Amino acid sequence: MSVEVNTKESVKTSIDVESIRRDFPILESKIKGNPLIYLDNAATTQKPKVVIERMNEYYFAQNSNVHRGVHTLSEIATNAYEDAREKIKTLINAADSKEIIFTRGTTESINLVANSYGRMVVKEGDEIIISIMEHHSNIVPWQILAEEKKAKLRIIPINDNGELLIDEFEKLLNEKTKFVSVVHISNSLGTINPIKKIIDISHNHGVPILIDGAQGIMHTAVDVQELDCDFYVFSGHKLYGPTGIGVLYGKSNLLNTMPPYQGGGDMIRSVTFEKTTYNDIPNKFEAGTPNIAGAVGLGTAIGYILKIGINNIAEYENELLKYATDVLSSIKELKIIGTAKEKASIISFVLENIHPHDIGTVLDYEGIAIRTGHHCTQPLMHRFNVPATARASLAFYNTKSEIDAISEGIKKVIKVFN
Ligand code: PLP
Repeated sequence: MSVEVNTKESVKTSIDVESIRRDFPILESKIKGNPLIYLDNAATTQKPKVVIERMNEYYFAQNSNVHRGVHTLSEIATNAYEDAREKIKTLINAADSKEIIFTRGTTESINLVANSYGRMVVKEGDEIIISIMEHHSNIVPWQILAEEKKAKLRIIPINDNGELLIDEFEKLLNEKTKFVSVVHISNSLGTINPIKKIIDISHNHGVPILIDGAQGIMHTAVDVQELDCDFYVFSGHKLYGPTGIGVLYGKSNLLNTMPPYQGGGDMIRSVTFEKTTYNDIPNKFEAGTPNIAGAVGLGTAIGYILKIGINNIAEYENELLKYATDVLSSIKELKIIGTAKEKASIISFVLENIHPHDIGTVLDYEGIAIRTGHHCTQPLMHRFNVPATARASLAFYNTKSEIDAISEGIKKVIKVFN
């Protein structure tokens, strides 16, 4: 289905954007009297009807607890929950579905690894490497661990385009390095990091690595076996699925050696007051009743995305990024923060003498939703010497005419404040 998708310059892509937009009921909303233009996809994505309907169906007709019942409903719920795990395994090409742990999201997945694997291996004087472009979720858990263990955080720097300095990364690795944790795609800059290279360098030094895929999973195809990463984490809500559900992928040989993160039901094999033995993975890391409806919804979202094709999505979003970069760069008062060669469809910008919150507020009156602030990357804001940015983040249901609308909106902002 090759169609023309643009108002101005027509582009041939394998994405039928008008038909895709009809899958997302919220895109028909009006905000302050204007049609919603949703450009805050890096914060969370909208949900297609199939996901909403599948979660409704689960609660209407299938609700039951998993893994513990012999009755029919429990079996249906368990199958639906485990089927979602299989879909995630397919999406990221994990070797085994046991390597897929359900969590609340990226943040909880990183905390799990820091608390379980990190506490097991990091000792006084050791070092953990992260980068300056990390989200607070991939800084603070390591900082807490480093404080507890009297270990040290080492930071990979970037150049002015927002690209990691790989040579500097190599220099940071030494015999004290116990772990590396790096973002796949920066939520503030859009930079796509060369994670295969970073993983290989880490492994050449015998150091395991976690990839924060919160943004990576929605913009690119991920193959964890090909990447050979030790851990890959992401959130369902950034992948057109529900909130409150996410994934920790870990290599089974590592997950098997790690102590549990939380204790409770489902993660045990047997309990006595003298000694508890733990279940096998993935259950060892899924204490308590999980977010069953969330997992089921995420499974449906993955099915939806795989049907469209991740490479088709990436190709279309790349086209949008190019167009948006051209259009926004032509506004002379506007400066884009994050100009890496390899970028996903995320554009952070500042306007001379106008606070990003003011940009966001004026655009909201036009029905345009963007995010403004530090985007949970305060060290990165300091690096660029800005308190905050305005950020437009594009998904495969956005169009070039929406980019034209934000461009007109920004010109209005400039007029109002100057
Ligand atoms: N890491 C990155 C790169 C992100 O963009 C985000 C969210 O914006 C997170 C981590 C945290 O994700 P969550 O809040 O879903 O746990």
